[in-house]
Amino acid sequence: MAAKILIVEDEEKIARFLELELQHEGYGVDKAIDGRTGLEKAKSGHYDLMLLDVMLPGLNGLEVLRRLRSDSELPVILLTARDSVMDKVSGLDMGANDYITKPFSIEELLARIRAVFRMEAKAAGQKPPEALSCGALTLDPARHTVRYGTEPVNLTFKEFLLLQTLMESAGIVLSRDVLMEKVWGYDYMGETNVVDVYIRYLRQKIDDAFGVKLIHTVRGVGYVLKDKEQ
Ligand code: CA
Repeated sequence: MAAKILIVEDEEKIARFLELELQHEGYGVDKAIDGRTGLEKAKSGHYDLMLLDVMLPGLNGLEVLRRLRSDSELPVILLTARDSVMDKVSGLDMGANDYITKPFSIEELLARIRAVFRMEAKAAGQKPPEALSCGALTLDPARHTVRYGTEPVNLTFKEFLLLQTLMESAGIVLSRDVLMEKVWGYDYMGETNVVDVYIRYLRQKIDDAFGVKLIHTVRGVGYVLKDKEQ
């Protein structure tokens, strides 16, 4: 299941931008535009993480955080508009997991979100999953990195998930339906050729980029990731 993120942000443009970027990375997203609604939603237990703007109308972000922490451990990343040391210190004191100062790059925010999820998994005693490999290709689920030899391969969240699914079953043919279900979920409503589209992206970034052939099409069945020896 994709992690669900709640965005509490009154600036519509920023909220919309975050929503699109996070959805693109495969997260489930919901939004609230004021502190009171945000607090109510955050307490519902439906989310895995909250991005909380500090400067909000009505109930400000720090107050939302203070009230939330009386009965919830929901991970929170604060979005601080001004470079205010005070906001950061009190935010962390009040139990924010991390903060990021506006304006920020989406890549930095995504990295911080992954770091918070990693720490949560660690705190819950979950062992980090082991790195997967196929030929010179390696994928580290815990660090969310992919390399071919020593070269980093930059993938989007869905590309990563698709590659991870293929690597976990390296040498085994997976049907489009299985890949669709594992990567996009049962309730996916978009294009039905999405698997083929993403396989094409992976081929460009791996097979084409490194002059190898790891991703194979099995006509009428699906796809398989394998090295020469497999
Ligand atoms: Ca604001």
